[in-house]
Amino acid sequence: MEADVAVLGGGPGGYTAAIRAAQLGAKAVCIEKEPELGGTCLRVGCIPTKAWVQTAFALKEAEETFAKLGVRVGEPQLDIAAANEWKAAVVKQMTQGVASLFKANGVEWVKGAGRFKDASTIAVEGGEDVSFKQAIVATGSYPLRPPIPGLDSSRCVDSTGLLAQERVPRRLVVLGGGIIGCEFASIFRRFGSEVTIIEMLPTLIPQEDADASKELAKQFSKRGIALHLEKQCTGVEETGDGLRVQFGDGETVEADLMLVSVGRGPTVEGLGLEEIGVELDKRKGIAADERRRTTVQNIYAVGDCAGYWQLAHTAFREGEVAAENAMGHDAVVDNRGVPRPIYTDPEIASVGLTEAEAREQHGDDVAVGTFPWVANARAVMQNETTGWVKSIHETRYGELLGIVMVGPHVTDLIEAGVVALDAESTVETVADGMAAHPTLSEAIKEAGLVALGRPIHIPAKRRAAARA
Ligand SMILES: Cc1cc2nc3c(=O)[nH]c(=O)nc-3n(C[C@H](O)[C@H](O)[C@H](O)COP(=O)(O)OP(=O)(O)OC[C@H]3O[C@@H](n4cnc5c(N)ncnc54)[C@H](O)[C@@H]3O)c2cc1C
Repeated sequence: MEADVAVLGGGPGGYTAAIRAAQLGAKAVCIEKEPELGGTCLRVGCIPTKAWVQTAFALKEAEETFAKLGVRVGEPQLDIAAANEWKAAVVKQMTQGVASLFKANGVEWVKGAGRFKDASTIAVEGGEDVSFKQAIVATGSYPLRPPIPGLDSSRCVDSTGLLAQERVPRRLVVLGGGIIGCEFASIFRRFGSEVTIIEMLPTLIPQEDADASKELAKQFSKRGIALHLEKQCTGVEETGDGLRVQFGDGETVEADLMLVSVGRGPTVEGLGLEEIGVELDKRKGIAADERRRTTVQNIYAVGDCAGYWQLAHTAFREGEVAAENAMGHDAVVDNRGVPRPIYTDPEIASVGLTEAEAREQHGDDVAVGTFPWVANARAVMQNETTGWVKSIHETRYGELLGIVMVGPHVTDLIEAGVVALDAESTVETVADGMAAHPTLSEAIKEAGLVALGRPIHIPAKRRAAARA
């Protein structure tokens, strides 16, 4: 089979690249080995986890908010079988959606595992070779498993294994306090599990703004999630009806199930890449420039197999850029406005620099303003006042450097910050613009006003706390 553009992998990076190449006139082929398109994100990542997040949120509303707002529904109860049916239905709708997008755009899906034979041919297991003019590698990532004794127990699962559970474990240990670990800890606590997080670094989600990580730890502790930070897991033993997890200096915790979520590695081995001259690092992935070009001129790489971010939306954008370059256009990926959503309760969402990064790059020329949700009318009426919005700018020109948010629906709200950063807006653009009233989005404007030293809606006694 011949293709102008062959894409290896049908996840967010790959399917976007294939569709964009076809839109630009290519005969585009996408090689995917799983029975559904959509990759990690749609099958066992973003989509099923957020379907469970939605179930957890509905439970929270029923437990904490409905009665307050005057809605009587009786004692809320989790029906995990129904929640799983809902999750599966959402996944099916999304993966089938990609298949119909392929049809609509004339992309051919070749089913099977692919491997480069040379710089113009991909061999497909059990199928015909695909010869191509340009190729885009989008093979994604896989969960890492640290060499800890006992971790081969069937009760130690990765995120895919946890998503396949049909029962809620009474006691869940989460190894790794990164994004995936924290999202599952938050879901399962709401589902009724006793949850313990073991993390070897001193903070949860260490790459995030320090105040956001601290706020999450505070809220997790309030919700009864046990946190063991700066503790290494040293071993796991089967006890007959469960697990005994050893950590720190001889401490132990009993569990029914353990989620191992210590990071993901790029899928780059066994693809024939090194043999054809594509430079890669087994830990960091395929080397690719801002045009997503690898060291072989007609081969591009996008998404988790070649990325620092490991996010679906960076994979989407990289896929578009690679396809455009493969089709003779000139496109680059601009990483200034990458949103960083975390779907815990409370949610976190950020874009641009953290406060520490801003201070490192701009020294004393940085101003920060924090606006608490308790001063926002919509948050109050939603009974969701945990958290705040932080606006960070540099004071020489007033350029906005970052927005960090913890609280209700912030993963949806962050797009305002993305647009502002992409447009190189000043803090005044945000603070002096209008936000519809009453909405949660007002908090972004208000945080800008606090950063400029002219807060309107924060009572004096709260200003000191907001600045702290
Ligand atoms: C539990 C979990 C939750 C997540 N939640 C979010 C979230 O909320 N938001 C977010 O932005 N990101 C989230 N992510 C990350 C997101 O899923 C990834 O960043 C995204 O899927 C990367 O897209 P990709 O196209 O690079 O790779 P993938 O989605 O991994 O797709 C790669 C595809 O390539 C196929 N493939 C691999 N090798 C071959 C081969 N040799 N031949 C044929 N096909 C092959 C694989 O089968 C797979 O379908 C989450 C991840 C996990 C695990």
